[in-house]
Amino acid sequence: MKNNEKKIEEELNSNESRSLNFIETIIEEDIKNNKHGGRIHTRFPPEPNGYLHIGHAKSICLNFGLAEKYNGKCNLRFDDTNPTKEEEEYVNSIIEDVKWLGFDWEDRLFYASDYFDQIYEWAVKLISEGKAYVDDQPSDVISEQRRTPTRPGIESPFRNRSIEENMDLFEKMKKGEFPDGYRVLRAKIDMSSPNMHMRDPVIYRILHATHHRTGDKWCIYPMYDFTHGQSDYLEGITHSICTLEFEIHRPLYDWFLDNLIETEYRPRQYEFARLNLSYTVMSKRKLLELVEEGYVNSWDDPRMPTISGMRRRGYTPESIRNFADRVGVAKRDNVIDVGLLEFSVREHLNKITPRIFAVLNPLKIIITNYPEDQVEELELEVNPEDTSMGTRKVPFSREIYIEQDDFMQDPPKKFFRLGPGREVRLKGAYIIKCEDYKKDENGNVVELYCTYDPETKSGSGSQRKVKGTLHWVSVAHAIDAEVRLYDRLFIKEEPDVVDKEGENFKSNINTDSLKIITGKIEPGVLGVKAFDKFQFQRLGYFCVDPDSTNEKLVFNRTVTLRDSWAKVSKKK
Ligand code: ATP
Ligand code: MG
Repeated sequence: MKNNEKKIEEELNSNESRSLNFIETIIEEDIKNNKHGGRIHTRFPPEPNGYLHIGHAKSICLNFGLAEKYNGKCNLRFDDTNPTKEEEEYVNSIIEDVKWLGFDWEDRLFYASDYFDQIYEWAVKLISEGKAYVDDQPSDVISEQRRTPTRPGIESPFRNRSIEENMDLFEKMKKGEFPDGYRVLRAKIDMSSPNMHMRDPVIYRILHATHHRTGDKWCIYPMYDFTHGQSDYLEGITHSICTLEFEIHRPLYDWFLDNLIETEYRPRQYEFARLNLSYTVMSKRKLLELVEEGYVNSWDDPRMPTISGMRRRGYTPESIRNFADRVGVAKRDNVIDVGLLEFSVREHLNKITPRIFAVLNPLKIIITNYPEDQVEELELEVNPEDTSMGTRKVPFSREIYIEQDDFMQDPPKKFFRLGPGREVRLKGAYIIKCEDYKKDENGNVVELYCTYDPETKSGSGSQRKVKGTLHWVSVAHAIDAEVRLYDRLFIKEEPDVVDKEGENFKSNINTDSLKIITGKIEPGVLGVKAFDKFQFQRLGYFCVDPDSTNEKLVFNRTVTLRDSWAKVSKKK
């Protein structure tokens, strides 16, 4: 992992200003040629059937980012054509997530369902021109007749119904005279096209379901493919950006517009490669399974690759936007190292987080020559990367905690932390020396006895140097907090690759992805609010969980520090 990070950092440094991506190149060309009068209008079109994930974040940053860069507009549009899987909860979470990422659609929040009347009219237009027909066959027969790309499909026996009969049946479908799936409306295009999407696709289906916006007004719903391109058209979208799997749908979208629209203006679709991340699954269907089957606690569980999960984990919008920018826009599918995302998160948190001391695996030290009732308020910097953040007061006393693994009974030479007879600096305080220690009946070290050198107080100008510096928390002043330590949710770089038949991505779940411990934290932490972020020095970045209360603080570990030990000891 460390090497990986180094590689990422080197690559980033050598590549600071990036060249135009292929969509930017197209846009700049279009602006030059005054296409659409130089207007740039994009949209982010989620289906409200799940929470947004980091892949969507990529698409959001791309669409809104292009609009920002080229002085254009970007709409937020819900492609809500499937009432059975869509819910208000998802709409609300999507709105919150896009806002949180820092983007603004102004007054352009749209729903494909707003266009249902127009789309219905368009279906009627196709029928009236002999370009659509009602098919009475069940869906499995229709699929079978489509056959394969290399064999021409079989025409439906209903394909040549009269316009009048089609009109009448479609009207009856709309009026609710038939049960679900009883008939469909199909576009009459080309049953032998090598593009399967052109083989008389279904454009309307019967579904007696309540829609989250239109209620029970409709019992027929347009298919996604019969809605998406037309919605772009209605909104005046100039560049319809979507992921590669829709490339093959493009001729169909164009066919619809060519057969429905008189004007010259057309939205033009461009496809880019979807973002894939190592150690991560991204499909909403799979994420829903993780939630419903209890592998995680909720959509916003900090282990989820959802935007709300990342927010809860402590990621910042800036770090996600930086990540999206660094990933770039590819034309071919690839897998991005999740380390690049973590790198972007660290990079931003390093700049903005206050430092505090927290001990996660406490080992008590008694400083035997320190006065029993004395407490010193030491002044430490809040953030060495940003001195404008000022200083903080940290109490120091005779009994303190350090991390268990900062002491070894029989340390090797290169171990610059504590061992019998060895010295370290307590950060911001004094140099101490380990004189003795106590073990319990199982041989575990339970207490250290140290002496301190009063001449070595930090900031006093003392010249004495030691190699190691440790963080610490005063026992009498420590605040207990629940600390949730997260690890990757999957043990495999590509969770979808399984070893045995019958397994699926869930076989690759890391059963140790959450460890809950009680940490000891410096008292300055009292009064924190949900989503406040800190660097626990030498340990990593942590974020206050919404479960946290004044009585019981709860922290999530956002991400560990890279090589934290080297950093702290170098500083002193
Ligand atoms: P999933 O397949 O992950 O469940 P989806 O494609 O069904 O997602 P939509 O709500 O249809 O989700 O997606 C909204 C927009 O986000 C679309 O334009 C889609 O192309 C884009 N998008 C979805 N997943 C990714 C991804 N992994 N990388 C980039 N863009 C994505
Ligand atoms: Mg989709």
